[in-house]
Amino acid sequence: MDNRVYLLRVDSYHPDALDEAVNMFWGPLGLDSLLQGKQVLIKPNLVAGASPDKAVCTHPEVIGALIRQLQGSKVSVGDSPGLGSTENVAAIAGILEVCQREGATLVDFANPVVTETPDGAVCRIIQLAEAVLRADAVISAAKLKTHALTRYTGAVKNLFGCMPGKLKPEMHLRMEEIDKFASFLVDVYLTVSPVLSVVDGIVAMEGNGPRNGEPRKVGVLLAGRDGVAVDAVAASVIGLDPFSVPTILNAHQRGVGCGDLRSIEIIGTSLSEARIRGFKTVPGSSSALKNLPPFLKSLLRDQLTAKPVVNVQSCIGCTVCRELCPTKAITMDKAAVISSHDCIRCYCCQELCPEGAITLARRGLGRLFS
Ligand code: SF4
Ligand code: SF4
Repeated sequence: MDNRVYLLRVDSYHPDALDEAVNMFWGPLGLDSLLQGKQVLIKPNLVAGASPDKAVCTHPEVIGALIRQLQGSKVSVGDSPGLGSTENVAAIAGILEVCQREGATLVDFANPVVTETPDGAVCRIIQLAEAVLRADAVISAAKLKTHALTRYTGAVKNLFGCMPGKLKPEMHLRMEEIDKFASFLVDVYLTVSPVLSVVDGIVAMEGNGPRNGEPRKVGVLLAGRDGVAVDAVAASVIGLDPFSVPTILNAHQRGVGCGDLRSIEIIGTSLSEARIRGFKTVPGSSSALKNLPPFLKSLLRDQLTAKPVVNVQSCIGCTVCRELCPTKAITMDKAAVISSHDCIRCYCCQELCPEGAITLARRGLGRLFS
């Protein structure tokens, strides 16, 4: 695996700045010869409809710069948002307009197709969007953000969106423990096998990510053939130990890419120059419940893991969280009410609440294990 990661200082989303940055890695990574004449699918992060300044989705101009590089290929752009239709979300995020301007087709990930994952650790088969499997090559074009469940989301986690809509909450139900879920995300990454991973960290998201955090200018664009290495460098830029991110640790331990910074060749800006201070990271899900018998798990869950809590002042009663919750742990009174007993701590509700009305609360022991 190519262990080079381009860590490029990019201060704005101006198309000229982005073209210059993409040119820096495109040739050296051999992408012209790999992708010429091919059907290429770009997979941005389109988790939910939000304007580019909110830093929820991959910035449309990053997608625009990638499409421009792919002249001579047939380019499509697609995702399966956690909330809303692909077209609506892409329109709000500015990506639909960029696709129309640059000549790419926006595709919906509605149709699931069963495919084998021969090297999967937790799955032997997996359902991916037909558009993903039809493409000759996939580019993961992620946003650098904090994530309540996985600490950080970037190139690897971005590909979870290759599973059509409703299948995603189901996977949370089947992969309740964070280590297992991370292993599953790495299975998805292996199966999709992106030819290039790009992480938009020009303006990242800190705090209550991946949807309701605050934008934070970091000023970097990252790219490489090894998405795990790209994630390791991106995580380090925001002050995280890469191996504290469950997807990076799992992938590295399985030999799926390299998460060890000592073995990654960083080209462009040095890590010490790019690293920013005081980025508000999150602890992510705790694996402290792993290996406990079921009765102890439910007894200690509140003590050892962060619990989603509804701010009744902010809740508008839209029922989005109730519809998404894989265990049906949420009912509606005037505001959403979460049954702690039924909640498996997947944090889908925190991720997708349009009002940011759900935050995570940790008790004393939970803080120790986070
Ligand atoms: S908590 Fe959020 S998602 Fe749930 S009903 Fe309230 S506003 Fe809607
Ligand atoms: S209440 Fe929220 S965190 Fe708990 S299972 Fe439902 S969606 Fe997941």
